[in-house]
Amino acid sequence: MINRLDLRGAALRDLDALALRNTLPRAELDVEAALDIVRPICEQVHAGGAQAVLDLDERFDGVRPPSLRVPDSVIEAAVAGLDPALRDALEESIRRARIVHEAQSRTEIVTQVVPGGTVTERHVPVERVGLYVPGGQAVYPSSVVMNVVPAQIAGVGSLAVASPPQRSNAGEFVGYPDPTILAACGLLGVDEVYAVGGAQAVAMFAYGALDTSGETVCEPVNLVTGPGNVYVAAAKRLLLGVIGIDAEAGPTEIAILADETANAQLVAADLISQAEHDELAASVLVTDSAELAAAVEEALEERVALTKHVERVRIALAGPQSGIVLVDGLDEGVRVVDAYAAEHLEIQTRDASAVAARIRNAGAIFVGDYAPVSLGDYAAGSNHVLPTGGCACHSGGLSVQSFLRGIHVIDYSRDALADIADTVVTLATAEDLPAHGDAVTARFEEKQ
Ligand code: NAD
Repeated sequence: MINRLDLRGAALRDLDALALRNTLPRAELDVEAALDIVRPICEQVHAGGAQAVLDLDERFDGVRPPSLRVPDSVIEAAVAGLDPALRDALEESIRRARIVHEAQSRTEIVTQVVPGGTVTERHVPVERVGLYVPGGQAVYPSSVVMNVVPAQIAGVGSLAVASPPQRSNAGEFVGYPDPTILAACGLLGVDEVYAVGGAQAVAMFAYGALDTSGETVCEPVNLVTGPGNVYVAAAKRLLLGVIGIDAEAGPTEIAILADETANAQLVAADLISQAEHDELAASVLVTDSAELAAAVEEALEERVALTKHVERVRIALAGPQSGIVLVDGLDEGVRVVDAYAAEHLEIQTRDASAVAARIRNAGAIFVGDYAPVSLGDYAAGSNHVLPTGGCACHSGGLSVQSFLRGIHVIDYSRDALADIADTVVTLATAEDLPAHGDAVTARFEEKQ
């Protein structure tokens, strides 16, 4: 059901960080190859606007939305029709996300470098953002919360959501995103929602979309954030520059670092919970306990048979991206999970907090028996839009900061500039850019 990789003994010692990373299980997810698929899709949207987007909806999601933009009345109906228990759960998820993300708010930082010379860092929200909410194999109202809450707290003025149209929706919702997604938008006060998924959604955000009479249906945005499948990730990579993007947040991953004290049933339950997302989802256990590895294999057999999305889970667990990695000890385990740089990393070891403190690379770290990834997916308050595919070694998850730009404001007096003028001239001369030096000395010439 799940592959084993034995890195005990020399097998691990002989690998440097890069070789180790290449040895570990990882999805054969070729965003580069997907670029060839999404390029014509993006070109079609650029040339054909809203009509092209609707055509692509029909082609890839099997339904033509009644309108590209979801009418306010449909969003209101989704909120009104929300199951009370689900409404309470969404509101609690929003409340906790707000607590955490409000603490990330940035204030202006004024630094006096020398008397008369200050550098102020202002944090200015991006003007308009497009938030992608996946809706292919599963629908993710939780991703509405995770995208919208930090954007709103950052002060983004204009905010639009896109999510794939659903052909299986009933009644007035046919061809629109899932009603729970619409309801989550409604609860958060977002009324600009488009029925479009995949690469065409990212392209619509990048280029904007006009209808056949030249009326604007969607204004272009400055930044696109949010998770999605390989086509969404490829379109974000392709259109980077036309738009800003967050980190690539593709098919989900869990790595669990566990020792012999871990509960095999809990480890198995958590590996399955990520595998449920997607056939490409990765579930990786790193352990120094052969006994635990065997017990987890046994628990997986039992639990997978009972889980709802059994086929998807089996494929994900058996894929080359999933596996049990055996190591000699916890130090080696830390080395392995750092090289892997998982989107989600659970620590199920003795003294889990101390082990967690040693980790350098992970999108989010879940400590001990009572912090499963599912808690972070929905209601820990943390953000679940996290870097995948090893991107956690250079990027973090979505946060208020993702929607802000830092602007330095430089303010020096005449005396403060005079004091540093020689330094600037020396450095400008070293770079053979004498006009740079002249721009400073000109300020102190007699004619002034
Ligand atoms: P999705 O909304 O990302 O993708 C669906 C869209 O893909 C469709 O609308 C369609 O336009 C497009 N598409 C499908 N097949 C295509 C093809 N052959 N060619 C071109 N376009 C095609 O939904 P999904 O597929 O369910 O994927 C969601 C992903 O998001 C999962 O992999 C899940 O693990 C991931 N996810 C990641 C995070 C994170 O933070 N990393 C969070 C939530 C979900």
